[in-house]
Amino acid sequence: METVEDLALHKLPIRNLPRPLYEAPESEVAVRRIMGRVTTYVLKFLSDKYVEQGFEWLLPVVFSKSTDPLWPDPGASIEKRIRCEIYGEVVNTMTSMIVHKMIACSIAFPKLFTYSPNIRIEKRERAYSGVHAYEFTQLDFEVRDASSKDIRSFVEKVICELIRCLRRDMREELLKLGRYEDLAEFEPPFEVYDRAALLKSYGDQWEDKIKLSNRPLWITNIPREFYDFEDFESGFWDNYDLILPGYGEVLSGARREWEYDKLVRKMRRDGVSERDYALLLKLAKEGKLKPTAGAGIGVERLIQWIVGAKHIGEVQPFPKIPGVVYDL
Ligand code: ATP
Ligand code: ASP
Ligand code: MG
Repeated sequence: METVEDLALHKLPIRNLPRPLYEAPESEVAVRRIMGRVTTYVLKFLSDKYVEQGFEWLLPVVFSKSTDPLWPDPGASIEKRIRCEIYGEVVNTMTSMIVHKMIACSIAFPKLFTYSPNIRIEKRERAYSGVHAYEFTQLDFEVRDASSKDIRSFVEKVICELIRCLRRDMREELLKLGRYEDLAEFEPPFEVYDRAALLKSYGDQWEDKIKLSNRPLWITNIPREFYDFEDFESGFWDNYDLILPGYGEVLSGARREWEYDKLVRKMRRDGVSERDYALLLKLAKEGKLKPTAGAGIGVERLIQWIVGAKHIGEVQPFPKIPGVVYDL
């Protein structure tokens, strides 16, 4: 395992990276306490909202034979995958609960959400992206027979109401964090942009351009993992990312593939092992995988944006910064 000393050998200055709570001076702990209050508010608000809307709240899993391949994805940067042996079987730590969501939603829970711990050993240079941690939480949710538009409209309503309520109930905290004035209220719907069109207009740096927008916006048509729906005829990917103003991506989601033939064809094309998704494929073959759509919100990223923290590690009591392994 990498230690802080090892990191020094890689010549990365850790000076400017967030410290864990037990190493921070009292002034910094005081700020973290305020961020903690906002975090509690946000988690309660989101959980209440999903429950009110009829979602079942599932507890997460940590080990599984099947997890997100995180491939192919234009933004993927994984240094290492964590696999280990338990009871004579090889399991992965979860990169996301996508497979579990698709199956649980198809079989038992037509509307579900979970707070899922994700382990992604991001390349160490991502320490300085400010938005990557190697352990983080997704508010992952999935809805049977939903369209992409259904999911986007739901998220828009939740985000807009969250900001309105935060400005009302957390005014003092946001003022202390210097974020009250800048955290503007928005109205749905958010504009939707096609990734291919953005790439054409702005080149590879399109993401840096669009995050300067002063409103949240959606990006759609992003070629990525086999489970997102792809129209083979038009080449259109029915998926979406939510970009927050002055920040960047906070959510990814999609309508899903559910047909066996398409799933297999995409896995073969992408070089993804069918054996790793044997159960998903078996259920698809038996017609038990249903059309669903959903998304995952990066919880720490959402909170980081709300409180205006420079680095995601500031909103983690025990920061998990790529390349930096603290004691706790
Ligand atoms: P990025 O391109 O920003 O690295 P991603 O597109 O690879 O992210 P997804 O697979 O879409 O990430 O994960 C779903 C959500 O989880 C993201 O929209 C983001 O909010 C959050 N997330 C992903 N990776 C990280 C990370 N390393 N640290 C914190 N949050 C993350
Ligand atoms: N949670 C994402 C989704 O719902 C998948 C991911 O984590 O990559 O599409
Ligand atoms: Mg994404």
